[in-house]
Amino acid sequence: MSPFQIVLLTAAVTAALIIPFMLWRSRQARRRASQDVVRTMQRIANERTESQTILSSLDVGIIAYGSDDRLLASNPVAIDMFGIIPDTLPAFLDRFGTHNGMRAAFYLGSETIARELSMGERYLRLVCQHHSLGGGRGNFGGHIITVQDFSDVKRQEERRKAFVANVSHELKTPLTTVKSYTETLLDWGINEKDREAIRADIERIYEDSLRMEDLIADLLLLSSLDSSGAPLNAHLLDLALSVRQVSDRLLDQARAKQIEIELFAMTRETAVFADKNAVERILTNLITNAIRYTGEGGRIQVYIGSVVDDIYVKVIDNGIGIAQMELENIFERFYRVDKTGSRQFGGTGLGLPIALELARMHRGRIVAESEMGAGSQFTLFLPGAGHLLKTTLIDLSRKEKPADAITKAAAAAIRDWAKEDEGDGALLDVHALLDIIDEKVDNSVTIIVSN
Ligand code: ADP
Repeated sequence: MSPFQIVLLTAAVTAALIIPFMLWRSRQARRRASQDVVRTMQRIANERTESQTILSSLDVGIIAYGSDDRLLASNPVAIDMFGIIPDTLPAFLDRFGTHNGMRAAFYLGSETIARELSMGERYLRLVCQHHSLGGGRGNFGGHIITVQDFSDVKRQEERRKAFVANVSHELKTPLTTVKSYTETLLDWGINEKDREAIRADIERIYEDSLRMEDLIADLLLLSSLDSSGAPLNAHLLDLALSVRQVSDRLLDQARAKQIEIELFAMTRETAVFADKNAVERILTNLITNAIRYTGEGGRIQVYIGSVVDDIYVKVIDNGIGIAQMELENIFERFYRVDKTGSRQFGGTGLGLPIALELARMHRGRIVAESEMGAGSQFTLFLPGAGHLLKTTLIDLSRKEKPADAITKAAAAAIRDWAKEDEGDGALLDVHALLDIIDEKVDNSVTIIVSN
């Protein structure tokens, strides 16, 4: 074999061995590279999903604009607040930053700008901040806008302001009368007015001081209800008996206007588990209002009945009535249908809100229905004693804690009855306690109201 042939053969053998190896190596490298690309893409996709999940789970709106002021990202909360988010930061500032000065502050070069924005019923707080997004390299600098809905806080603040303004106004009116009548009497009235006129002035002063006293008492009660620290002194109570007692107490007031109060019992199940004073306060408010807003010679009917697990007291009058559009407002503090006139009836405008709050504390409610000029109907619903006590007992047997003041009181009463009955020290089971509840509830109904 010639040297040339040997070289050729060696080259051919080497090529035959090396080329497949090289091909294999390059295929391997390509596969590794493509695996790297896939992995990187997966990592980017994962990071994107992660950051998107984080953005979506926030309860603040987030909008990010890049260094070129183009929209980079936004979360669902922001979209819910603004609808379509402008594509660029200048467009965003034009739309949402003109009236509140955010746009001006931005072009004046402020790094962090906080402003408020009202959008229909919503109050939003916007904070626009410059952020360096490129790990300090600066070339990725952009802006992040965070948006918080503070409508509830704002509304609470407005309600508080209105409440303070109302209280001041309600106190100022009688105070002005007291002041001006006393001034007149001191200046010249005592010397120049006759005895009758002086007496009338003093009566006026007295009446207005009583009004202020009533208002302050109502305000103190409301504030104790609001702080919800007031425990309920609840017992088994015959609601029919309370209705009779309250209407008897208001008989003189009704007779002064030749108004009749009729009572009707539609059920024998009239036991409730409630705070006597609170229930009487609710009934007094409903019947007093019926008397107040019914003309001379009118008629008031009070029904006591039961429906499903509730006991109700329905107070029906044939008085001035309330327009439909006013009905939803009458449970608001200081709301009066007749802004000028009804003060003359002596109310504080706090009667119904207090009554409703007390009813709710007993897991009850008040429903108002009315027709202008024809009369009104206010119904107090309270859970029947048997139902309330039995559901509380079941909760107790499941080791559930009483959720509110009334079930706390019911749980305490059940424990007391259980102790009374555990003569031999044996623990009573749920069935024995249910029997005790039935017996106690039956015994608590004392009268049947009927005319
Ligand atoms: P007030 O102390 O002024 O009576 P309430 O809170 O008890 O305050 O009632 C709020 C308003 O609801 C009253 O000012 C009155 O306009 C209206 N209202 C309540 N009860 C009746 C009723 N039976 N008939 C007509 N209007 C009523």
